[in-house]
Formats: sequence, structure tokens, C-alpha cells
Amino acid sequence: MKKSEKSNKFNLSPNQIRRYSRQIILKEIGAKGMNTLLNARVLVIGAGGLGCPAVQILSASGVGNIRIVDGDNVEISNLSRQIMHYTNDIGKPKVESLKEKIELMNPDVSVEIIQEFANKSNIIRLLEDCDFVIEASDNFGTKFLINDACTHYKIPFSIAGVVQFYGQILSVIPGETTCYRCIFSKYTGEDSNNTCSALGVMGTVPVLAGTLQANEAIKSILGLPLKFTNGIFFFNLMENTFEFVDIKKNPNCPACSNTDKDEPFYLKNNYTDDINECEIR
Ligand SMILES: [Zn+2]
Repeated sequence: MKKSEKSNKFNLSPNQIRRYSRQIILKEIGAKGMNTLLNARVLVIGAGGLGCPAVQILSASGVGNIRIVDGDNVEISNLSRQIMHYTNDIGKPKVESLKEKIELMNPDVSVEIIQEFANKSNIIRLLEDCDFVIEASDNFGTKFLINDACTHYKIPFSIAGVVQFYGQILSVIPGETTCYRCIFSKYTGEDSNNTCSALGVMGTVPVLAGTLQANEAIKSILGLPLKFTNGIFFFNLMENTFEFVDIKKNPNCPACSNTDKDEPFYLKNNYTDDINECEIR
């Protein structure tokens, strides 16, 4: 569906006015901003530790169209941090589990689920008509793919990573701000064991990171300034330290400064599809 064909929800119903009243009274949102949220579409890549809280608060806030992509099923080891999946969801596709919860939570939200992993072949279809992308996967290959494709198609996005008590987040406005590849310039095609299940992760860490990613999505949709741009936000929930490190755009970045008009940079790269080996979400 094209943006222009989306239904006009500007006339909020009495129930919508009640449901979103605490947001509507914010001068940064108002009825107009609420209408904008209800008509927006966010793509969430990954229905795990980051994706669960992101989807939860996007849905509650009234982001009206949410597309969720994940090929995994719920496992018992997911439940300590993937807070939208419950014990009786074990064995169920994660995207189905999320769709069920969202539909119970908020009838205003249209949920589209795709039980696949993002890759070069399906990325154009996944990105279609999206206002913002939340990269919530568990592997570097997908992070670089999302960075490179969103940079090419000029869709703002947020990437996060978590391990143990540590989290990091950056947001990218393509063409304007530092991208993931400006910072992490080399990707060998091998996932580092540093982010795998062997190292563990505290459940609060992805919940905070995913919530912050959703906050970035909402602000981007509303045209409010993003603050996790041109650098990386780091947090450590053992020491309770929170720090933003400025990092300038790399003028020679092959992704965001690519001048080859013939072929998008992302099509030239090999991104690993072997994403089941790593499970940090
Ligand atoms: Zn770049």
C-alpha cells in the first residue's frame, strides 16, 4: 500500500482520544502528531530481546503499522529477556507470538509479520513504504545489511547491540549523519563470538536498548530531533554509566559516501545468512 493510499485517521475517535490522551497533550505531539503516528509504518528486524520491547511500546503508543521480520521460533532460553514471548509460546514463530500480543493490546495497530530473515534478496520488499527501521537482530551481517540498504534507500534507522550488562545504540539519518559502517568499517563475514550466547546478557539491557530504539523511531516519525546520531550511545547497567561518544561521518565511507550510481553498495557485499548461530538478543 502506498503512503498516499493509507486511510485518513486524522479524525481521532473518542476512544483514540482517550487512549492517547497523555501523548496528545504533549505539545510536541498533539492530535496532528498522533495522526502522524497512526499512519506511520515501522519495520522491526528481529522479534527477540530488542524487538520485543520496541514492538511493545510502538504498539502501545499508537504507531499504526508495524512490520515484523524474524524467522525464528520461541525457545525457553529466550524468555528471560524477550518479554513479549510467554511460556506457552515456546515452539511458536516469534512473529506470530508478537502479532497475537499486539492485537490484544491495541486494535489501532495493523501488524504485518514476515517469517523470514532479512537478506539481500528480500530487503527491498521488507523496506517498502517504511518510515523508520529498527534493526534488532542478533548478528553483524544483518546490521551491516540494514545499514547499507537503508543508507541507499534513504530510510532513517536505528541499530543496537547488547551483551552482558552493556548496550550501544546509534541512529542514522541517511545522507546527513554518521552511519554504522562509518564507525565499524570492516566486516569479515564472520560473526564474532563476543556477541554470542556464551557471554550472556542481563534481561534489562535489551529491554532498555529496544525501548530507546522505539523512542528514536517515534521522534523520527514526528520530525523531532534524534540525539543518537553522529556517534554511539553506550550504557553499562552494572556501573549505571551512560555516555554518548561523538564520531564524525567518514567522508570515504563506502556505504554512505558511495558515488557508484550503477550499483547500490549493499548489492556488492556478502552478508552472512548464517544467523542462527548467534543468539544474544
Ligand atoms: Zn557511512
